[in-house]
This record gives sequence, C-alpha cells and structure tokens, in this order.
Amino acid sequence: MSAQIIDGKKIAAEVNEDNRKAVSLLARDRNLQPGLAVVLIGEDPASQVYVNMKDRKCQELGIYSEKHVLDINASMPEVLSLIDKLNKDPKINGILVQSPPPPQIDEEKVIETIDPAKDVDCFHERNVGKMLIGKQDGFFPCTPYGIMILLERSGIDPCGKHAVIVGRSNIVGKPMMSLLVQKAAGANATVTCVHSRTKNLPELTRQADILIAAIGKPEFVTADMVKEGVVVVDVGINRVEDTDAKRGYRLVGDVKFDEVAEKASFITPVPGGVGPMTIAMLMQNTIKACKMQNKV
Ligand code: NDP
Repeated sequence: MSAQIIDGKKIAAEVNEDNRKAVSLLARDRNLQPGLAVVLIGEDPASQVYVNMKDRKCQELGIYSEKHVLDINASMPEVLSLIDKLNKDPKINGILVQSPPPPQIDEEKVIETIDPAKDVDCFHERNVGKMLIGKQDGFFPCTPYGIMILLERSGIDPCGKHAVIVGRSNIVGKPMMSLLVQKAAGANATVTCVHSRTKNLPELTRQADILIAAIGKPEFVTADMVKEGVVVVDVGINRVEDTDAKRGYRLVGDVKFDEVAEKASFITPVPGGVGPMTIAMLMQNTIKACKMQNKV
C-alpha cells in the first residue's frame, strides 16, 4: 500500500479562509477586531521564526497583532508586569508566551498569570481542565486541535479506533489523549499513550489504527513499528544536518516517512503536515477569544 498524503498546508489554508471570513464578519457586524499578543523572551532563532510566522498570519487575516520581544535576561517581575498589562488591554484577546523561555523564567507561573479568557494556547490549568471534561467554553491546544481537524477533514473518524500516541508532553501528547478519548463526534477513540518508560513500545505502536508521533527524535518510527493500513500523524520537527541543503540542514519528522508511507493508508508529511495547522488553530482560538470576551 502507498499512503495518501494528508496535505496540512491545504487544510490549514481552508481553515484560514474560514478564519478570514469570521474576522471580516466581526468587523462588519460588530466593529470588532480580534487581537493577539505574542511574547518572546530572548532571540532564539527558531522561536523568532515561529513568532514571525504567527505575526504574518495575523496580518494576512486582519487580526491585530503585537510582538513583544524581551531581553534574554528579562526578570520574572518584568515578564509578569507585561502579562498583567496585556491581560488588561481590551485590544488584546489572546496572549501567548513563546516556549521555551530562558531558565530564570518560571514558565508555569507565567502561564498561571495569563487571564484564562486570553489563554489561546490552552496552557492554563483552567482551560486544560475544561478540555479534559469536554467543555466547549475554553480553548483546545493548537497542535492537538489541529490534528483533530486534519483527521476530520481527511474523512478519518477515530470512533472505535485504537489511537496510539508516542510522547506525553503537556503541549502535544497529553492533550491529544484527552481530545481523542472524548465522548463526542470526531473523537471516541480507544487511546494508548507511550513514552520513554514504556516497555515493548513497538508492540503497542503495531496495534495502532491511528499513530501520532510526538517525541522529537528524527525518524524514530520505522516501518516495522506500524501495521499495514495505519493512519500516521507526524508531529515531530527535527533539524538534521544535510550538507546538500542551502542552510546546511533539512527538517524531518519523528517518522521515517518513505518506508512508513509504504504501509500506511494516510500520512502527514514534514514539513507541510501538522505545522501549518498549529498556526491556523491559534488564529481560530484568537477569534473565539474575541467573540467570548465581547459576548458575540
Ligand atoms: P517533549 O520533548 O516535551 O516530549 C517528548 C515526549 O517524547 C516525552 O513524553 C518523552 O517521554 C517522549 N520520548 C522521548 N524519547 C522517547 C523514546 N526514545 N521513546 C519513547 N518516548 C520518548 O516534546 P514535544 O511534545 O514538545 O514535541 C515533540 C515533537 O513535536 C518535537 O519534534 C517538536 O518540535 C514537535 N512539535 C511540533 C509542533 C508543530 O506544530 N508541528 C508543535 C509542538 C511540538 P518522557 O515523558 O518519558 O520523557
């Protein structure tokens, strides 16, 4: 079998077209413009790329955006005071602090300080709790939410399927478990989550009808670890040295694409799979935040 490619760029463009329409309706009918503030501490090149991509997407869609770049040595009081200002700013509906911050910054404390109504990344414990119990009036975290939409728009219903998630981070693995297991349309999967302490990991991944790889290890999932016909979602973004590439590296996922694609029924590429969806869902969450804060 040769897998059908799940085109994340195309699906993200469709979601963003809906986002653009929602933004123009808010302007036309309510004179409202959603606003997103992105906070970057330090100038880590990869983080800068992500922040600039988010900023550009806001501009494309008509979302107001602010970028706050703090010095790498910024103190906790400085960061918290900026968050407090953004919490109170009516132009700003969504706030995100680009991860990872430098070591002097207590990320958990920063997340707790963000007004849950503006927590468009869904890192605040109140929103995480709402997601877990299936409430719709919070936010879903952008990457796992984007994966749910990728599956839905590719006609893949997780209902009754065995979904195996490789990785248990708070950003991807754990919320992915929570979204897939919900008693709700588009979910209803039987979920297993494996991690670095799992025994016989390949035995479990071979049972997957849907396999989601989110570990940050280049090409970790190989063909012998999956069964024929599996749906594979590759979240990983890893730089590997490539002297033929202009920048000296290329991006690969957590899945050995060519060989796994031979066995899978569907597969996401890297790049162009999950990545574009993450930003599209961030835009959607910002619009939702604006609507909720203005009781639209
Ligand atoms: P983390 O490093 O936070 O978590 C990695 C997880 O993988 C951990 O649970 C860890 O287990 C597990 N793991 C690591 N090594 C192994 C192993 N050998 N066997 C089994 N499990 C292992 O990563 P993230 O979840 O933040 O990110 C994962 C990947 O996804 C990265 O490449 C990241 O760049 C990418 N990413 C992509 C996004 C996108 O938009 N496309 C968004 C977010 C992340 P343990 O808990 O036991 O340590």
